[in-house]
This record gives sequence, C-alpha cells and structure tokens, in this order.
Amino acid sequence: MLSGPLVFDTHEMGRKPGAERTHHRSIEAPADLGYDLYGVPEGSTIELELRLEAIMEGVLATGSASARATGECVRCLDPVDNQFVVGFQELYLYEAPSDPEEAEEEFILEDELLDLETALRDAVVLALPHNPLCGPECPGLCPECGVRLADDPGHTHGAAIDPRWASLSQLADHPVRTADSSESGNTPDDSKE
Ligand SMILES: [Zn+2]
Ligand SMILES: [Zn+2]
Repeated sequence: MLSGPLVFDTHEMGRKPGAERTHHRSIEAPADLGYDLYGVPEGSTIELELRLEAIMEGVLATGSASARATGECVRCLDPVDNQFVVGFQELYLYEAPSDPEEAEEEFILEDELLDLETALRDAVVLALPHNPLCGPECPGLCPECGVRLADDPGHTHGAAIDPRWASLSQLADHPVRTADSSESGNTPDDSKE
C-alpha cells in the first residue's frame, strides 16, 4: 500500500468525471530532489498546492510546489540559496495500458492512490538550472589569483599581462571548450549549456 506525504487518496472522487478536490500540504522534502550540485535540501519544507480532477480515463493532477534549492555558484563557489516555484500537470490512469512498454511511460493510480513523488521530481529537475549562479551578473573568480571579483571589481595585478600569455592561459583553463568553439564559431558562455 502506498503511503507518505506525497500520496493522495482519490477514493472519495468515485471515478466520477468532473469530481474535483484541492489539497494544500506542507511536506518535508524527500532525499535527492534535484541535482548533486543544486537541489532541494532533504527535510526542507515544500509547500504543495494540488488540484485533482477526475476525467474519463483517470485523475488529472495539476499543481505547484514552492521549495528552496541550495548549492554552489558555478562561477564563484558562493552558496546559492533560492526559493522557487514549479508547476506541473500529469494524468494518472485508472487502468494500466495492456502494452507493458506503454504502461512504463504512464502514471497509474494504485488502489485509487496517487503517488506524486515522480511527477514532483521530474518537475523540479526540469525547473532547476544545471549551472546555478549566485546572481545573473556574477563575475566569477580572478583567473590570476582566484579572488572573488564581486568583492574587488577593480582588482588588478600590477603589470598588465601580455595578451599573448592571456590567451594561452585561457587555453589552459578551457581546453575542451576552446576546441568546441573553434568548430562552431560560438563564444564559450558559462551561462549556457
Ligand atoms: Zn557567483
Ligand atoms: Zn587576481
């Protein structure tokens, strides 16, 4: 029998098309919600709004989750701690399709119980950036000494670096990306994937 804070009972809707229920729950985040480097801390509060609507073939679950994501800025390694809201909508079928491959791809009610966990995970993973930033303009770290450029924007190292050496040091820092960009003609950009 399914149980847990992300399981919703649809018995009382009686499979009657048009029947509706709304739920509001504050739940503790399950483990591993998000990516290794950026995700919802286990046990932190998720505010869940959910509307369940019975239709002919199943129950449509529409809702949103408001949660906290923490990690490290990929440019300056500062902690990143953001509140975010993600919406989702999934259909949970009453009966599994007879084709097992098809059934694999569907959400299916189990004893009229709806387990929202996978739908929530999918939505959160889609919503969170792979490359979290402390702010859209984060200047990152000084390539020379590693100091946070946000703390010391005017920061220099006395003698200007010979531009020929500067481009060599960039090559050393990003050998793979430089090779990619010479093929595609694009400038490497940390904010894109
Ligand atoms: Zn940063
Ligand atoms: Zn420096």
